[in-house]
Amino acid sequence: MDRKGILIVVSGYSGVGKDTLMKAVTARYSQYALSISVTTREPRENELDGREYFFKTREEFDEMIDRGELIEYALFCGNYYGTPKKYVEEQLRRGRDVILEIEQKGARQIKEKVPDSVLVFVMPPDAATLEMRLRGRGTEPEEVIRQRLLKAVEESTYVDNYEYMIVNGDLDKAVEEFHQLVESQHKELDRNLEFAQEIQDELKHLVSVKYPGAE
Ligand code: 5GP
Repeated sequence: MDRKGILIVVSGYSGVGKDTLMKAVTARYSQYALSISVTTREPRENELDGREYFFKTREEFDEMIDRGELIEYALFCGNYYGTPKKYVEEQLRRGRDVILEIEQKGARQIKEKVPDSVLVFVMPPDAATLEMRLRGRGTEPEEVIRQRLLKAVEESTYVDNYEYMIVNGDLDKAVEEFHQLVESQHKELDRNLEFAQEIQDELKHLVSVKYPGAE
């Protein structure tokens, strides 16, 4: 039985640790492929082109939109972010579960285009932990932290667009919860109709051989 890949959208407040969580998930389980987005944002210190993001100019980004190379894109805090289509399609075809770490406008576009995608929101254990993690990163000026906390309040009004949540308190626990969630999605009957059909055909064949004329 070939398993079809599932498209999983992961969003969460800036600073909630979803990058760390998704990197841990992909390091532990080889069934996942983490999509790398394109962005017009400047690279942060320690970020590498082609690892965290593909860093593009606004013109290059617009060209990708025009050529239909992005499945979704959105403006977030003054910068554009988008998901390259080709990688996602290839990996799904190979049966891998593809993770898109994107914000809520992108998440909605994906759900419209790919209705059997799964939308997951990563929550902090509490608001104070989120602020601490934002500051802990130590790479952003105060104004950016203010912007991101305000953005988090705005984003908190969209969480009902999501289908599942994972609380990222203990990293190890969150990794396991995420993986179990995806595994349970694979068991949905709607995702296994071909297999169900095969079994039905086999059963019919078996009965017709063992009990000829019984139908
Ligand atoms: P950051 O600048 O902190 O790396 O990301 C800012 C926000 O953009 C995060 O919420 C992140 O999930 C989101 N983001 C990253 N890549 C994409 C993408 O390809 N599409 C969309 N819509 N959002 C993205």
